[in-house]
Amino acid sequence: MITFASEKRDAKEFLSYAPGYWPNTAPELWNNWKWQFKNRVTSLAQLEKHLELSDEERSGVLLSDDKLALAITPHFFNLLPRNNPEDPIRRQVIPRIEETWTSPYDMADPCGEDSHMPVPGLVHRYPDRVLFLVTDRCASYCRYCTRSRVVSGAGEQELHTDFEEAFRYLERHTEVRDVLLSGGDALIFSDDKIDKLLSRLRAIPHIEFLRIGTRVPIFLPQRITPELCAILAKYHPLWMSVHVNHPRELTIEVKQALERLANAGIPLGNQSVLLAGVNDDLETMKTLVHRLLICRVRPYYIYQCDLINGSSHLRTSVAKGIEIIEGLRGHTTGYAVPQFVIDAPGGGGKVPINPGYVLYHDNEKIVIRNYEGNIFEYPETGNENVQFAPQREYHDEYLYS
Ligand code: SF4
Repeated sequence: MITFASEKRDAKEFLSYAPGYWPNTAPELWNNWKWQFKNRVTSLAQLEKHLELSDEERSGVLLSDDKLALAITPHFFNLLPRNNPEDPIRRQVIPRIEETWTSPYDMADPCGEDSHMPVPGLVHRYPDRVLFLVTDRCASYCRYCTRSRVVSGAGEQELHTDFEEAFRYLERHTEVRDVLLSGGDALIFSDDKIDKLLSRLRAIPHIEFLRIGTRVPIFLPQRITPELCAILAKYHPLWMSVHVNHPRELTIEVKQALERLANAGIPLGNQSVLLAGVNDDLETMKTLVHRLLICRVRPYYIYQCDLINGSSHLRTSVAKGIEIIEGLRGHTTGYAVPQFVIDAPGGGGKVPINPGYVLYHDNEKIVIRNYEGNIFEYPETGNENVQFAPQREYHDEYLYS
């Protein structure tokens, strides 16, 4: 049985939870990503072998095959405590009956991707960049996944990416300078397939910038082999966005995988989703962003949870996200402060949401508040040609109280 007494130790300390529930597995198998992938926990019987499930979890697991499949790598499964259904890691990957709840705000495709897909699998929503959905499979499945309508192959919709048509589209669209590979998760492909895919994209002269959005370094750190890093390093500039929600996910193995990527020259950013009962408090987020910096990862975004079907039990208020940013900005290293965003429902794109630091702004001055609540004025001069209409009042109460 795994206990988490060690969590009470220094929050900066990185831990390994291996071999955990797999005590008799040889290290060479444990460290092999294909073994990890093949031995994922995917059934109720496997779950119940190790965990005491709550009624909500058991019912959720029985229904998961109609919505978003259950799959958890042994590495990540070791982070789950045996008997606490409210554990922040458990809430992310164990299905719950609440996924069948419907809220009037729920949507199947909250980011409006399907309506911006000129080629199956290629989302072209912003002028100069595209999202390339190269697979519908991941190493493990997150219960709040924005793309649960297609990811894992369990839902009603299927992803049929047309690679050749997508390459032809990209060759024709010379305005596209940035391609983000996502899905699903491209890093579950074989080395050879990743190499061919990146090479094909790099052969398109106007594509300047490649990005991979992935949770593989967290779910399956064994996949980040020196051979994979050598392949990725051939295609610079190549950046990577990883996805960590809770500090406990940053194990020794994950830290080492992130270091291998950083040593291959890949700039790393992290995207977290703000989730109820997972990371919706300042202390958890502060520990997370500090540990990310130690792993050489820049905290990039905190997302307000999308209005995806069946996620209402994991969504927080927007005010909670603003409160967290307020508690970070100025109180800790600037590099540790991510941008809080809402992906505007229906396809409006990411909108930054900030605490109200601008109290007043006109053609003569801007009045601002710092992290301590002190108020300052800065003169507005020499900006006659700026195409910006100052808003005359934001927070009158600060000015006249
Ligand atoms: S890793 Fe990403 S794409 Fe896969 S289930 Fe999680 S959020 Fe969805």
